[in-house]
Amino acid sequence: MSGQTAEAVRLLEALAQGERLDHTQWRTLLEARTPALAAEAAQRAAAVRDRIYGKRVFIRGLIEFTNYCKNDCYYCGIRHGNRATSRYRLTEDEILACCRAGYALGFRTFVLQGGEDPYFTDARLVRLVSAIKREFPSCALTLSVGERPQESYAALRAAGADRYLLRHETANAAHYRRLHPENQRLEDRMACLRALKALGYQTGAGFMVGSPGQTLDCLADDLVFLTAFRPEMVGIGPFLPHHQTPFAGEPAGSVEMTLYLLSLVRLALPAVLLPATTALGTAAGDGRERGVQAGANVVMPNLSPAGVREKYMLYDNKISTGSEAAECLDELRQRMQAIGYTVAVDRGDFAGISEGKV
Ligand code: SAH
Repeated sequence: MSGQTAEAVRLLEALAQGERLDHTQWRTLLEARTPALAAEAAQRAAAVRDRIYGKRVFIRGLIEFTNYCKNDCYYCGIRHGNRATSRYRLTEDEILACCRAGYALGFRTFVLQGGEDPYFTDARLVRLVSAIKREFPSCALTLSVGERPQESYAALRAAGADRYLLRHETANAAHYRRLHPENQRLEDRMACLRALKALGYQTGAGFMVGSPGQTLDCLADDLVFLTAFRPEMVGIGPFLPHHQTPFAGEPAGSVEMTLYLLSLVRLALPAVLLPATTALGTAAGDGRERGVQAGANVVMPNLSPAGVREKYMLYDNKISTGSEAAECLDELRQRMQAIGYTVAVDRGDFAGISEGKV
């Protein structure tokens, strides 16, 4: 064993003991990655996850309800500047129909995700959230609609929204600049995350792996941020280029590095709800299974109407017809069973105790 590997194994052990690592230590762990070290991290991460949640994978029905967006994130296929995208937004009736179909299939969490679409004012979103919670009081509702004023988050929380996904994208300010135009600021993103948490949302942060300009130092910054902020959910997937964005020619992020990061995040935040993301499933046919084996415990099948799925193209070749489709839940069940897991049919709330709440 090399000195670096020995130190990395010691750091994995420290994580398992609940110790918090600093930037340099994270950097050491990231630099030391070998297939053997990643396998060790995955095995430890899976054991931690199994101890807290059992061999259960939670499902979330993802409804991509609008691809209109006022933002211009350089990586994203539905960015405002992509004039080639054909835009859509679902009506309240269409969204409720998605929820009904999902409920019948066994989904007890719905995730409403979309671009930052000004059509969805607070009044409209509050109405939508209220309608969903009225018809499905036993279900959790997650929103993922980007940055909004604190009062907006408060109104949506009061209307019944339980969770909110807002990836921080990168915790490194210079890297954030590289991924977004001037008017999008890391401090705003972070302020939104803090506001969401303070309002009592189960809050999800996260980042892409291998986005242009990302270094191991950026990833170490992400891990330092996550372990300080302690979100209930963390979304991590490989960056995948979209041909109509400024990053069209950039290489995709590494599946192996993504899996390793899933394991590290599981070890650092034992009770975190950690999806094996669609991007991971797109980058590798068995990405979701490998994600679960690396410590993930959530998958988010697509409940959007089939006709709009190809329009919510965040990156090229985004999968939408196999086991990631909600109506193919049996295939997902079989895939999970094949690796020793069952698909859980409950809300799948955060099992940890977060600060400020008992
Ligand atoms: N407008 C919402 C939802 C964004 S889409 C928001 O701002 O939160 C959800 C996530 O997809 C993004 O946070 C980003 O991390 C990821 N994503 C976007 N483009 C991607 C790409 N090209 N490759 C991989 N992931 C991407």
